[in-house]
Amino acid sequence: MLSDAMGPANDCALCPRLVEFRATNATTWPDWHNGPVPSFGELDAELLIVGLAPGLKGANRTGRPFTGDYAGDLLYPTLIKHGYAKGHYGLSFNDGLKLLNSRITNAVRCVPPQNKPTGPETRSCLPFLVDEIAAMKNLKIVLALGTLAHNAVLSALQEKRSAYKFGHNAVHTLSGGLILTDSYHCSRYNTNTGKLTEAMFSEVFEGISARLA
Ligand code: URA
Repeated sequence: MLSDAMGPANDCALCPRLVEFRATNATTWPDWHNGPVPSFGELDAELLIVGLAPGLKGANRTGRPFTGDYAGDLLYPTLIKHGYAKGHYGLSFNDGLKLLNSRITNAVRCVPPQNKPTGPETRSCLPFLVDEIAAMKNLKIVLALGTLAHNAVLSALQEKRSAYKFGHNAVHTLSGGLILTDSYHCSRYNTNTGKLTEAMFSEVFEGISARLA
C-alpha cells in the first residue's frame, strides 16, 4: 500500500472479467503488480485527481497510478511544475516522488482489457471512490481526467449527470460545494492527436491553483 489502507483488497473479486485478466497477466508477467492499484498521495490533500483505470504496462506493472506509461510522462512533470509533486519522476514505484496537497486515484482500480472498463465494472468499483472522497476531509477540488472519470465522480457524489456536462477545463461547483474540474485524459492518443497539448493540461492546473490559493 502506498500511503493508507483505502481501496479494494489485492484479491478483490467483484469483476469476473478483470479477475480473469489479472490472472492471465500474472501468468505472463509474474513480477508485475497485477492487482487493484492503490491511490497515491495523502488523504489530507485538497486536490483529488481521478483517472480512468491502470494501464496494462504502466500502473498495472508498477503498482502506482499513472506510473510507467505515457500518461504519467505528462501527468507527473505537470504536477511537479505546478507544485503538486516534488522530487524526480523515475517511472517506478520507488522513485521517491512525493505528492503535495494532491492524491491520485482511478475510477476503476484494476486494469481492463483494451483499456476499456464496462459499465458494470465501473459501477462495482464506485464504492471505493465514494469511500475515498468521504475520507478526504480537506478535499476542495476533484480533477476528472476524461468523461468516464467525470461521470464516476458525479455518481459517487450522487450528483445529476445532466447538470454537469464534461468539458475540457470546465469547472463545476457541485451541489455539496465541492468543485469538479475536467481535463481531457492525458493519454498518448489524446496528446498524439493534438486533442490535449501540454499547454492545455498546464492551464487546467493553473485554474486549480488559483482556486486553491
Ligand atoms: N494510468 C492510470 O493509472 N490511470 C489512467 O487513467 C491511465 C494510466
